[in-house]
Amino acid sequence: LEEVTKVYGIGDLEVRALNGVSLTVRQGEYCSIMGASGSGKSTAMNIIGCLDRPTSGSYYLDGVDVAQMPEGELAGIRNLKLGFVFQQFHLLPQLTALENVMLPMVYAGIPAAERRERGVDALTKVGLESRLQNRPNQLSGGQQQRVAIARAIVNRPVLLLADEPTGALDTKTTQEVMDIFTEFNENGMTVVMVTHEPEVARQTRRVVWFRDGKVIHNNLNPAELSHAVF
Ligand code: ATP
Ligand code: MG
Repeated sequence: LEEVTKVYGIGDLEVRALNGVSLTVRQGEYCSIMGASGSGKSTAMNIIGCLDRPTSGSYYLDGVDVAQMPEGELAGIRNLKLGFVFQQFHLLPQLTALENVMLPMVYAGIPAAERRERGVDALTKVGLESRLQNRPNQLSGGQQQRVAIARAIVNRPVLLLADEPTGALDTKTTQEVMDIFTEFNENGMTVVMVTHEPEVARQTRRVVWFRDGKVIHNNLNPAELSHAVF
């Protein structure tokens, strides 16, 4: 991101959610984003994830400025290069775990037989090979989030993004989910996540701190995160 601003609304109702954010994340990094509620973390993540675009500034993804790309092209990039995990899982309730995971491959135009094979493989990677045919309401919160992670990685993204992925999970399940992110990163995937939990951030390798729409710490050492920072 280079000098990215994001302004919501107009006139008296204007909110400057991002105010000149410059941030570089390199291939293979494992990075967490922290900061107070309303500081612009999700706004930044949505831009990084091509779910939204900056009001001004540039966003280079794999060297290409995608900031002002037409929506059709942006959707293609989202599908092929990025994986996104949300706090509230966002699984489709009428589909099984396997069907949820296969969906992004439908959009990517992958043949049906390969979709199934890769879907099973992704669910195996998150330890859910025995729950392929269960619907979300038959799975625990942690299991649902693991399905969402499998869905996010099934198109082999260059960048895995997660906005408070453990925000709705208990301590034990949080650790299961973090172990999966850590393993993916150890296998070379670039991972960026937003979290409010120091224990979660401590498991990543770099902390970026937001305040009032700006990055105030670019590269904190997670091992040195103290509760005092809050
Ligand atoms: P939290 O930790 O609570 O999730 P955050 O750091 O993710 O907070 P953002 O969601 O990025 O914060 O919001 C940044 C600012 O932008 C806030 O003031 C918020 O109210 C505002 N904002 C976010 N989305 C919109 C929107 N769609 N329309 C108007 N204002 C918005
Ligand atoms: Mg947020």
